[in-house]
Amino acid sequence: MTITAPRGTQDFLPEQTGDWQNLEAKIRDVCSLYGCGEIRTPVFESTELFLRGIGETTDVVTKEMYTFEDHGGRSMTLRPENTASVVRSFLEHKLYGDGKIHKFYYMGPMFRHDRPQAGRYRQFNQFGVEEIGSQDPAVDAEIIALALQLFRELGLHDLVLHLNSVGCPACRPVYRRKLLEFFAGRRAGLCEDCQSRLDRNPLRVLDCKEDGARMLSAGVPLITDYLCAECKSHFEKVQAYLTEVGIPFTLDPRLVRGLDYYTKTAFEIMYAPLGAQSTVCGGGRYDGLSEELGGLPAPGIGFAVGMERLLLTLKEQGLLPPVKKLRPVFIVALGDTAREKAFGLQQALRGKGLYAEMDMAGRSMKGQMKAADKASADFTLIIGAEELAAGRAPVRNMETKEQETVPFAEIVAYIERQKKG
Ligand code: ATP
Ligand code: MG
Repeated sequence: MTITAPRGTQDFLPEQTGDWQNLEAKIRDVCSLYGCGEIRTPVFESTELFLRGIGETTDVVTKEMYTFEDHGGRSMTLRPENTASVVRSFLEHKLYGDGKIHKFYYMGPMFRHDRPQAGRYRQFNQFGVEEIGSQDPAVDAEIIALALQLFRELGLHDLVLHLNSVGCPACRPVYRRKLLEFFAGRRAGLCEDCQSRLDRNPLRVLDCKEDGARMLSAGVPLITDYLCAECKSHFEKVQAYLTEVGIPFTLDPRLVRGLDYYTKTAFEIMYAPLGAQSTVCGGGRYDGLSEELGGLPAPGIGFAVGMERLLLTLKEQGLLPPVKKLRPVFIVALGDTAREKAFGLQQALRGKGLYAEMDMAGRSMKGQMKAADKASADFTLIIGAEELAAGRAPVRNMETKEQETVPFAEIVAYIERQKKG
């Protein structure tokens, strides 16, 4: 019986990881323009963190977590997302003490027991940003602008920003009551999940894939009509900042979360051709999360991007830049003594920062030349008995086909010069 990778997980082989590295480099570049520093938190945390930080009524917590008991009998969970961990870390390191605004970004694997399909895996990677310490609507706009700048620099244009405000603990209860009144006579028409959502988290009915749109056309009350003065003004300012920098948005009253610590701005960035997996980025403000985790008040906002979905999108659009391949110096060697010399030269070249290869598969002369070709060597050098006796070897520039015979002791310096020139 052969062992395969678990369902919903993937291997990325060297031909594929080049795309990941390019994407990661682009992400790091854009994040640095916004003053974000990388944060790395553990891939598993106390289950309690996610129960409190994501909410016990969400699908992620009720159906999707990989939870296990460790040898000490503690309940641990593989992180299904990273916002709760970042806020936990922020509190644990008392970063609130300096009164500054902290901007973090992260990239790494998340784990959810989702039903595997294109763009949906059980281990997947997220890139995310969290900005903690300010309620300023300019921060909301800045976070959204960062995500969009990244997408734009990657060449993606057909993206739609969906925007909403989910209010705050002051105005949401009023809205919740209105919602419950509206749903009172409609309960039977809702899907099974939504019937239980009605009791636990009625706002969530709106983002149900089955019932949400239907309720909207049936005239469900909209949160934006019930925002308190502060939330309303905050939302208007976010929109004004976005407009100032030419970022179009679609107001989407169905973007809701419904837990107390999610406040004000909620947004998603969609790429329609991905269908059911069209959301490449989801984010929002969580001014109450820090307190939910037992900390001092620390307002924050962030987003997460599914990196596999982003790469799929880029691939579909033909936007993955070719991965640059380094060209080696290939040393062709015949006979044991020549191979020893070749091995020494190979390491000497590598020691000078030059990529070098030699045959390690016992190939014939012809086979080695083929291998050099296949590896797109830019220089080859050939060492046989004759060269050993003469203390020098021909170095061939594979591009120009020019060849020069160089003493062994000078070969590294010679190739260094050639590569630079
Ligand atoms: P969906 O509705 O597609 O399940 P979600 O609401 O669960 O998404 P978030 O929790 O907002 O997603 O996560 C942010 C992003 O992470 C998503 O927009 C998506 O790009 C990505 N993502 C979420 N779950 C998965 C998964 N199982 N596989 C791959 N990417 C995922
Ligand atoms: Mg999901």
